[in-house]
Amino acid sequence: MNKVLLITGGSRGIGAATAHLAAAQGYAIAVNYSHNASAAEAVVRAIQAQGGKAKAIAVQADVADEAQVMAMFATVDAQLGRVTALVNSAGVVDVAARVDAMDVARWRRLLDINVIGTMLCAREAVRRMSTRHGGVGGAIVNLSSVAAVLGAPGQYVDYAASKGAIDSFTVGLGREVAAEGIRVNAVRPGVIDTDIHASGGQPERAQQLAPTIPMRRPGTAEEVAQAIVWLLSDAASYTTGSVVDVGGGR
Ligand code: NAP
Repeated sequence: MNKVLLITGGSRGIGAATAHLAAAQGYAIAVNYSHNASAAEAVVRAIQAQGGKAKAIAVQADVADEAQVMAMFATVDAQLGRVTALVNSAGVVDVAARVDAMDVARWRRLLDINVIGTMLCAREAVRRMSTRHGGVGGAIVNLSSVAAVLGAPGQYVDYAASKGAIDSFTVGLGREVAAEGIRVNAVRPGVIDTDIHASGGQPERAQQLAPTIPMRRPGTAEEVAQAIVWLLSDAASYTTGSVVDVGGGR
């Protein structure tokens, strides 16, 4: 069976590390991005440079936009075939703030991308993977965060709440489609050294938090990718509706 993996936010950070690892394991990869085309193209070129049958395409879409998500899945259908795996890695934080200083525009953007984006892509994947719809099954991995458990007080309680929604969605959807050949799991990264901290105005955040992490260091995108690719694989064939912590003990 052809293994076709769509990774939202596959152009940078955890998504990009997942793209490299999964390509090496024989998946054809669709690398989604929203703005930074050159980062997505760089991931595609690196995969193609692996030689052999490594296949990858870059696909632009804002995951919060339904029409763009539908068009992205249609592009993947046409160029790589129906997805057999989906990783929902596209996600954003905002600048650190207390709830009493946040506005609705911030919340809508965050929830649209982190929650609606994940749900939209999962819906389109289920429509293609489910045996109920003539599919052959598949696996979905959602990116949650340890913030879902810790709450991120004084920083981004809204982001934490968006990831709490991902945990519930993962458990519910996992049970809903378990008898249709689809496994749905989530990974809860701790503090991982990627660009996401700079986009929240704190480029040094990962290193600054090191002393508060039981392992005394931030994790790498590659360490999270290992858990994601395991959850996608047949080695995790009896694992669904699970949330796996990859947080160095945090
Ligand atoms: P990152 O390095 O900031 O990369 C974010 C990726 O998401 C980029 O490829 C970006 O593409 C894409 N993206 C952002 N908004 C998008 C949208 N509306 N539509 C499509 N793609 C979009 O982030 P990361 O650190 O790898 O985080 C990946 C996931 O892990 C996120 O869900 C995050 O919440 C979660 N996580 C991260 C950490 C951490 O410490 N890093 C911890 C816990 C959980 P463009 O560049 O084109 O915008």
